[in-house]
Amino acid sequence: MILVEEALRHILEKISPLGIERVPILQALGRVLAEDILALRNIPPWDNSAMDGYAVRAEDVLSASKEKPVILRVLGDLPAGRVFRGRVGAGEAVRIMTGAPLPQGFDTVVPVEDTEKDGERVKILASPGKGKNIRLSGEDVKSGERVLEEGTLLRPAHIGMLASLQRSMVSVYQQPRVAVLSTGDELLEIDEPWEDGKIVNSNSYSLAALVAESGGIPIQLGIAKDRREELAAKVRQGLAADLLLTSGGVSVGDYDLVKEMLSEMGRMNFWKVAMRPGQPLAFGMIAEKPLFGLPGNPVSSMISFEQFVRPSLLKMGGHKNLFRPTLQAILKEDIAKKAGLVHFIRCRLVWEKGEVHATTTGEQGSAILSSMVKAQGLIVLPREQTLAPAGEKVKVILLDPSLFHLASPLS
Ligand code: AMP
Ligand code: MG
Repeated sequence: MILVEEALRHILEKISPLGIERVPILQALGRVLAEDILALRNIPPWDNSAMDGYAVRAEDVLSASKEKPVILRVLGDLPAGRVFRGRVGAGEAVRIMTGAPLPQGFDTVVPVEDTEKDGERVKILASPGKGKNIRLSGEDVKSGERVLEEGTLLRPAHIGMLASLQRSMVSVYQQPRVAVLSTGDELLEIDEPWEDGKIVNSNSYSLAALVAESGGIPIQLGIAKDRREELAAKVRQGLAADLLLTSGGVSVGDYDLVKEMLSEMGRMNFWKVAMRPGQPLAFGMIAEKPLFGLPGNPVSSMISFEQFVRPSLLKMGGHKNLFRPTLQAILKEDIAKKAGLVHFIRCRLVWEKGEVHATTTGEQGSAILSSMVKAQGLIVLPREQTLAPAGEKVKVILLDPSLFHLASPLS
């Protein structure tokens, strides 16, 4: 028996980030930045107006009020995108739009609400104070500043920042390509005619979907029947990917073919992990490629993926945070278990009186895929724990991204 954290440590030691690639910035969304991004100039590059109004010299309008307006001569109109190159002096103003560079010689903008147009002149009805309504050069980003750091998970604001730095291409970590193979004589492909006694291959699809959700690119290898040559050929085909996932054939009671073949092809460990579901797990390297042999039961394969494969794929993709968000929830019902294994219990979460409460999805059998469909999270009950009574606080791993806000202490 190996502990969950020992198995994970052993696995992550063998997994390293993949190489990097340059992509157009819109393709970088959700990927991990593989370079530091430095600013080559200030943003904004020059002082500019924060309002539509009039650029003035503060000293000219100090005494301005509704009752005693100050009258200035308007030299011109300055829309955003244009530069005013004229000289300015006392008693003068320029009509200026938001974002237009502040003409040299002016230091303040009077918002249009505090003015009254009067032909070639303008009446200033209030004094905003020196320097008001100006965005200063470099107040957003300073030239030379490291704006984004290697390892950053790129969200929409990062993409916008890259655009404003005129970076159309960016280096990101490669996405792991993951070969997914289901094993077993009993399996029927999704579009094969129904046959009595067969089991539809759902694992290839739930696992491929988990791969995609973890930032990887799934490659479907289909089903290998329990025959040596077929299995070996599919595994060899899978070696073109960065990582291989098989499901089925690694349990203690299993017909030994999968275990035998994998051992012959590489350096494999066959573990019993101290967890339920997902106790049997094979992990090792075949021709320098990591291979996970996941159990065949539909729930077990998904929970083993969550614990071991997802962090591995995130590490390969350059992510710094390898784990799902967790939260503390209050149990709504008693849960009894034996000591010895960590239990991952499928649950739903409800928000009541400012606290999150967890209810189990009912029957926890490892073949009950509908319990994964219902599950918004996994209650983690430690190895040594036996009874977890209603009202107790438990750790919950969040699976449903629409609930991730619950993990925030502010929600
Ligand atoms: P195994 O780990 O091979 O002993 O499989 C355990 C159980 O999981 C058996 O009932 C299998 O039929 C089922 N199973 C195995 N592979 C798949 C699969 N790809 N899709 C759905 N169920 C599977
Ligand atoms: Mg089998």
